[in-house]
Amino acid sequence: MRNQNCDVVIVGAGFSGLYLIHRLRVLGFSLRVFERGGDVGGTWYWNRYPGARCDVESMQYSYSFSEELQQEWNWSERFSAQPEILDYANHVADRFDLRRAVEFNTTVTAAHFDEAAGRWTVTTDKGETISARHCIMATGCISDVQTPDIEGLAAFEGATYHTGNWPHEAVDFAGKRIAVIGTGSSGIQAIPVLAEQAEHLTVFQRTANYSLPARNGAMTEEYARSWKDDYAQLREQQRQSHKGALGEASNVSGLDASETERNSAYEARWAKGGTTLLGSYKDMMVDNRVNDTAAEFVRDKIRAIVRDPGVAEKLAAKGYPIGTKRICVDSGYFETYNRDNVELVDIKATPIQRITANGLSTSAREYELDAIVFATGFDAMTGTLFNIDIQGRAGTRLKDKWEAGPRTYLGLMSEQFPNMFMITGPGSPSVLTNMIVSIEQHVDWVTDCLVHMRDRNLATICPDLAAEDDWVDHVNVVAHTTLFPQAASWYMGANIAGKPRIFMPYIGGAGAYRKICDEVVAEGYKGFDFQPIQDLVAAAE
Ligand code: NAP
Repeated sequence: MRNQNCDVVIVGAGFSGLYLIHRLRVLGFSLRVFERGGDVGGTWYWNRYPGARCDVESMQYSYSFSEELQQEWNWSERFSAQPEILDYANHVADRFDLRRAVEFNTTVTAAHFDEAAGRWTVTTDKGETISARHCIMATGCISDVQTPDIEGLAAFEGATYHTGNWPHEAVDFAGKRIAVIGTGSSGIQAIPVLAEQAEHLTVFQRTANYSLPARNGAMTEEYARSWKDDYAQLREQQRQSHKGALGEASNVSGLDASETERNSAYEARWAKGGTTLLGSYKDMMVDNRVNDTAAEFVRDKIRAIVRDPGVAEKLAAKGYPIGTKRICVDSGYFETYNRDNVELVDIKATPIQRITANGLSTSAREYELDAIVFATGFDAMTGTLFNIDIQGRAGTRLKDKWEAGPRTYLGLMSEQFPNMFMITGPGSPSVLTNMIVSIEQHVDWVTDCLVHMRDRNLATICPDLAAEDDWVDHVNVVAHTTLFPQAASWYMGANIAGKPRIFMPYIGGAGAYRKICDEVVAEGYKGFDFQPIQDLVAAAE
């Protein structure tokens, strides 16, 4: 029988949850950990679609908290595929004996703050209620899968899939006519692999996306060694960097370079692969004149790769700056459209009207299908939190408080919700950075805070409203110094009907943000209010 009174409830056993379990256990806190999936791994547990791969380099997309771990684990490719990252999550769970802390296949349905006790009452779908001093949402930023409500979907007689909730068993597409709806990072990774498997693949594209070649390859012993020998220093550089990843960011303005110089810089980075092209100039994401040159370079590459000029033009992203929707990284995506069994449908020109028993109809024609793959994304950053009935002080619902957009202090906490922490919450760099670097920073900050409170007999911590308002303003002001708000992206909530259009992550950079968080602590947790345990006791007497 597990303890129904504990120090901390952790929601989620992905990369955030796993590191939280490790740290909190070492520090002697009692825990309950709930995970809706059947095992550890979070994003990498759910996103098992063919072609799923990380576009942060393997040597950088891994935990830094254990020297032994980072020395002993060997990655087989420059950019790891989903199965290997999931193996890594499992290895970490086993190596640090984390799995036995987790209750799998269990969804947290509600978390209510009990003001008198200064504790959270957490309810699960198994009907259990737990009382915890602290509740930590390690629920991931991109985990609430969105399937569009297309008329007729329920009557489709073929199979349907979502990239973000892919079956555990292999799916056999041989001899099948399949559709992919959606051309974000997931679609762009899945399409080349599905095209090889299926008899015929039709891609339904609403918005063309910029994508850069990964140039993935086998990890060389030499490259792995160059990182392992210097991990202490390189990890520190990652932590202080803008993106939490080292990728040759330039300090030069694109306006100071000639067209020939720019094109040769872009060529070199295109050849190197990954997202590095976006780092060609320091003003790439703040000046449309510079950004336009990179966008046109990529469009020209697409025109050179795709043989049918009409198809190439449909695939060439236009109307928003490159990088302002999450940049995609692919392996043979544009080349796939040169295959005879692949067709591209522009659903802005000919919208999907309905799904039928045998396929899908656009305004132009019907497509007979055996399977539909939805690569249609997620209600990012807030969706998963809103799926839990979170109520803070005086029954304040998080969903109501955030009706006009998420409001947090540092992306770590929200006023009215004492002792509830978010790992990589909205208002922190999170999805704009190497997630593992940001996760480790948040877990370290939160767990240090819990020790600070325990050492001083403090019952609750909550941001004050003025600090939160200032932070929300700051996040917004910084976002608007960049080109990012120019795109209808999920960063802006633009992929979800009715969601407020607010730039949700903090774009000030991982290193700068870390410094702010450290300064807040150094100044006595500036902007946070604490309540001593004796005040709660006195109020109860
Ligand atoms: P996404 O970027 O939101 O892309 C969803 C796609 O579906 C878009 O092309 C969107 O079109 C389309 N779509 C959505 N609703 C539609 C509808 N009703 N009808 C037709 N098309 C519709 O989602 P994602 O590709 O799953 O990626 C989400 C994020 O996960 C990424 O941005 C990235 O941060 C992360 N991710 C990372 C990796 C990696 O590391 N390599 C891989 C996969 C995912 P519009 O653009 O017109 O909205």
